[in-house]
Amino acid sequence: MHSLKIKDLSVCIDNKIILNNFNLEIKSGEVHAIMGPNGAGKSTLSKVIMGDENYKVINGDILFDDVSILNMSVDERSHLGIFLAMQSPMEIEGVSNADFLRTAVFSKDQDNFKLLSFIKELENTADKLKINRDFIHRGVNEGFSGGERKKNEVLQMYMLKPKIVLLDEIDSGLDVDSLKIVGQNITSYQKDSKCAILVITHYQRLLDYIKPDFVHIMVNGTIVKSGDSSLVKEIEKNGYEKVEQKSEITSTCIVKDILNNE
Ligand code: ADP
Ligand code: MG
Repeated sequence: MHSLKIKDLSVCIDNKIILNNFNLEIKSGEVHAIMGPNGAGKSTLSKVIMGDENYKVINGDILFDDVSILNMSVDERSHLGIFLAMQSPMEIEGVSNADFLRTAVFSKDQDNFKLLSFIKELENTADKLKINRDFIHRGVNEGFSGGERKKNEVLQMYMLKPKIVLLDEIDSGLDVDSLKIVGQNITSYQKDSKCAILVITHYQRLLDYIKPDFVHIMVNGTIVKSGDSSLVKEIEKNGYEKVEQKSEITSTCIVKDILNNE
């Protein structure tokens, strides 16, 4: 049983507060969905959990199994079993998918690494995701379409076997068939591994395949409403505006003071 706890987290970039007193706990076996308007801070949240150093944590903590990970590097967090499928996956020129994954999987568990079974698993997973096997030997995301990049993120997830999975708009750029393949495979991984999933999305379509136990609405860097999957339908029907109107944006003065005093 693993847990990721985000406690009173405030984060800024260029003196602008993006996450404002954010709280959330996710545990093994649970699927949480975060929905919210553009600019709410959803991608920032996922990147800060993963350890992106461009963002400055000015208050609060992030705990994996009750131990703070704030001082850990991206690699260390990844070795703990935290994985992020980014909203816009980057190209890594000159490094093939296979090499990239081999290095990542090897560095995670050197003692049990077996090259042949790694390759077999990589090919089988590519087949399962309907990723052309040629892609395995191409540069990471080099010349990949938006949808192919998203599938490649799911391939990485399968190979790295994370315990906490963060999916930032994994559905964007996917056609209906790919959406189904991606959604069903993520759910199958979740059921087998009992991992925790945090899925960020705008659309119910993805949540038809990845059924959330909890749904959170995020506005202006904080969760303004939580509920079960019925909240998704409410949002589809009414949009974020009604929820937004109810949210009280807490004063950021205290945080600004912290910034000014540095
Ligand atoms: P969401 O994913 O919910 O659409 P983001 O987390 O991408 O929102 O962005 C939240 C806010 O933070 C936006 O106003 C965005 O412009 C700002 N922001 C995010 N990252 C950066 C950055 N690297 N530099 C400057 N502003 C940023
Ligand atoms: Mg985003």
